[in-house]
Amino acid sequence: MSNVLIVGGGATGIHCARYLSENFDVTLIEKKKHFHFTPDVLSLISGSPKSAEAIPYEELLDDVQMMHAEALGISDGSILVKGKEMAFDYLVLCTGSLPRMAFDGGDALTPYEYDSIVQNLERIRSANSHVVIGGGPVGIELLGELDKLGNGPKVTIVSGKDRLLDRFGPKVSRFVQSYFKGPNIEVLLSKRVLGMADGRFFTDEGTSIEADMGYVCTGSYPNTSFLEAGLRDAMSASGHVRVNSSLQVQGHRNIFAGGDISSIYEEKTYLAAERHAVTIASNIASLDKGGRLKQYVPRRMPLLISLGRGDAFLAYNNDYLHIPLLHKAKMLERDFTLFTIKHPGLSKILFV
Ligand SMILES: Cc1cc2nc3c(=O)[nH]c(=O)nc-3n(C[C@H](O)[C@H](O)[C@H](O)COP(=O)(O)OP(=O)(O)OC[C@H]3O[C@@H](n4cnc5c(N)ncnc54)[C@H](O)[C@@H]3O)c2cc1C
Repeated sequence: MSNVLIVGGGATGIHCARYLSENFDVTLIEKKKHFHFTPDVLSLISGSPKSAEAIPYEELLDDVQMMHAEALGISDGSILVKGKEMAFDYLVLCTGSLPRMAFDGGDALTPYEYDSIVQNLERIRSANSHVVIGGGPVGIELLGELDKLGNGPKVTIVSGKDRLLDRFGPKVSRFVQSYFKGPNIEVLLSKRVLGMADGRFFTDEGTSIEADMGYVCTGSYPNTSFLEAGLRDAMSASGHVRVNSSLQVQGHRNIFAGGDISSIYEEKTYLAAERHAVTIASNIASLDKGGRLKQYVPRRMPLLISLGRGDAFLAYNNDYLHIPLLHKAKMLERDFTLFTIKHPGLSKILFV
């Protein structure tokens, strides 16, 4: 039986591992012990029930060998982990993104990971004032969570752009700005935070904002530095791994890359990563049997953005659909994800 190494057990990795485990000897290298459904991780803040809870990998993947360690490098035909070289017949790289720090973050949190939220949950919930830096989807979801906290804190959101959610059309930005118009919320546009010290956040206009808590939500970049030496020819200037339409890494027939690190031009989302996993798993199976490879076709999909506990909307280009019940869809999405991990055949049909 051929062996497959998968590096990174997030959206791409966990689905790939599950799809391939019936016919391959699969090892998943993942530094964390628990799987988290990232799209709902911020809901921990306002205390939505179980949606963001952590699940041990071993509970989700009983027929996959788990190696909880950090992959440190790649060389011809092997991955460096725990000081040894692990050989592979096929390799899947899917190590996701790291938060981009707009400035030396000091005490500010990057609320992109379950652990950083859980460890600071009491501080977040008891703070009287917050500064959210960044007006993209993560900043907006965080604003929604903080706005729904029972103690009615003051929340300031600062964006370097002239409108919130500027990756969508102006109609979507107007909706979000009118939604967050309560007396406790302040929206500061076309301003950048350049640094912080002693609870003050300094802007490029020479002003400062005082707050108990600050959060950096200024985007992310591909987590690929450990690949740079071994895959130099396949790295793009932005740090993405160049792949062809079969999701094979440029110049490497048996190495695939999916999810946020891949150079595919599309919105980096959980759903896109799940679709990558279907293509990659199918192509590894085909390569092994000498069959034809599937081509991945990027799709532009609406983004479901939470507005905090009990409310959410869908954004697509210059349109939006605001139905509070959509918030349930976020939780259903998570339950559905876990269901498809258990029933890979179903997701192969749905995500192609
Ligand atoms: C706060 C937040 C909210 C989001 N909301 C949404 C949303 O509502 N809808 C949506 O579609 N998308 C959302 N996204 C984006 C979505 O979560 C990502 O696009 C998706 O998870 C990317 O999948 P991936 O497989 O590339 O990486 P990830 O899911 O990030 O998984 C990468 C994994 O690799 C592991 N890893 C990294 N480096 C190593 C290493 N060297 N060795 C071993 N393991 C390693 C990490 O621990 C991690 O588990 C959100 C993201 C964030 C941060």
